Amino acid sequence: NVGIPHGGICVVGSGPAGFYTAQHILKHHDLAQVDIYEKLPVPFGLVRFGVAPDHPEVKNVINTFTHTARSDRCAYYGNVTVGRDITVGELQQAYHAVVLSYGAEDNRVLGIPGENLSGVYSARAFVGWYNGLPENRDLKPDLSCETALILGHGNVALDIARILLSPLDFLRKTDITDCSLAALARSKVKRVWLAGRRGPLQVAFTIKELREMINLPGTQPVLNPADFTGLENAVKDAPRPRKRLTELMIKTALEKPREKAAMAQAAIPRQWGLKFQRSPQEMLPTTDGTRVRGVRMALTRLEGLGDSAKAVPTGDMEELECGLVLSSIGYRSLPLDPAVPFDTQHGVIPNSLGRVTGVPGLYCSGWVKRGPVGVIITTMNDSFDTAQSVLEDLQGGVLDVSISREGFGAVGSILRSRGIRPVSFSDWEKIDAAEVARGKAAGKPREKIVDPQEMLQLIGH
Ligand code: FAD
Repeated sequence: NVGIPHGGICVVGSGPAGFYTAQHILKHHDLAQVDIYEKLPVPFGLVRFGVAPDHPEVKNVINTFTHTARSDRCAYYGNVTVGRDITVGELQQAYHAVVLSYGAEDNRVLGIPGENLSGVYSARAFVGWYNGLPENRDLKPDLSCETALILGHGNVALDIARILLSPLDFLRKTDITDCSLAALARSKVKRVWLAGRRGPLQVAFTIKELREMINLPGTQPVLNPADFTGLENAVKDAPRPRKRLTELMIKTALEKPREKAAMAQAAIPRQWGLKFQRSPQEMLPTTDGTRVRGVRMALTRLEGLGDSAKAVPTGDMEELECGLVLSSIGYRSLPLDPAVPFDTQHGVIPNSLGRVTGVPGLYCSGWVKRGPVGVIITTMNDSFDTAQSVLEDLQGGVLDVSISREGFGAVGSILRSRGIRPVSFSDWEKIDAAEVARGKAAGKPREKIVDPQEMLQLIGH
């Protein structure tokens, strides 16, 4: 191991990418110090603000991250927006290596007329709202209509459908925010369509999430058997996950409810279904022009096979009536700082094995490195790869550790001069304890504090 007299490594962003990068460096280098800078007072990125509240088991990774943060050689500085409060150049002056792991905080837009009508929301904002993301706490989505349309066939789309249709008693015991629970209690939504431009063989959601939706009590799947004609044959030689997923959709579409069950189902108030080969062209306004009343969709046919099949408009159109539209077509990373190269076309920082192209000492990991796809495990593996690149560069002399760097000593005084007061990990633990205590009374794992000012007050800032 190469000694790092002062300074060390800093990581920007405290989601899975930031924490897994830090963990791997600390584990494989006995002397490294890793400082994690985070924009929000609270850590863990999309594990806290993305993962659905009714999937608490997914959030267990927080225990591993907490273990890393408590290491003597790791420090957490929340409430510091890199690119605004401190520049990447200033971080590079203070540390031997800087790893950018700041995720994908924007969303892709459809770019069609009416996208800004009231009643149309991005999945990112809607998820942020029910998960207590401060910037979305005032979203107040209008849930007064009966039919919602989600554009997208991924797991985030299914998460949203499930939250909209779940029995309230399921959600009450989760860490969903109190105010979104209250809004869902008043919701009139009883039918949710999930529409995609391509067909059943191209859906991006996975079998566990689909099964959960099919088995959701009090709801009935509505799948059109005609959409699945001939698909059993087509997936015979497909990879096993795709084959099983398609077979489950076919089985669900063809299932003839037994008579008694059919009677019971007639009384089922809530429905959801998948619509395929439909490409949104325009959000249609109500006559007074104030809200969305539906979406005009172009019907498509597929050119090519499997994952690379392209949706081409047939020329036919269809209007789907709905009062709520949630566009779930993907997240998007933004450039952070003019000093950092950014590939706007792919929305990633150009890199080779996590080494940012043309900027020695600068690295990236997670969604900002790969693009906004992949689950926590995928993010873990790619963060370990980046960490490995940092370790190799430390050991191979690419990073000059003979020059000592001041690390937080330097950054802390810059931040002080700009009136920024970072939040430490033990500060976060106080916020955490307060949230857990507030949740206890209601039988929830926590009641999230959604106002950053309240968080800061709580820790005496
Ligand atoms: P993020 O988790 O987004 O972390 C980035 C962090 O950087 C954030 O904390 C952010 O505040 C911070 N940051 C941003 N800008 C700055 C700045 N300028 N300065 C300082 N800090 C900054 N995966 C699963 O395995 N299971 C699931 O159930 C699951 N559900 C998901 C549900 C949703 C809605 C979404 C969107 C994703 C889900 N994922 C799930 C995927 C998983 O969340 C991602 O793979 C993972 O979070 C990506 O990690 P990341 O660290 O790159 O980004």
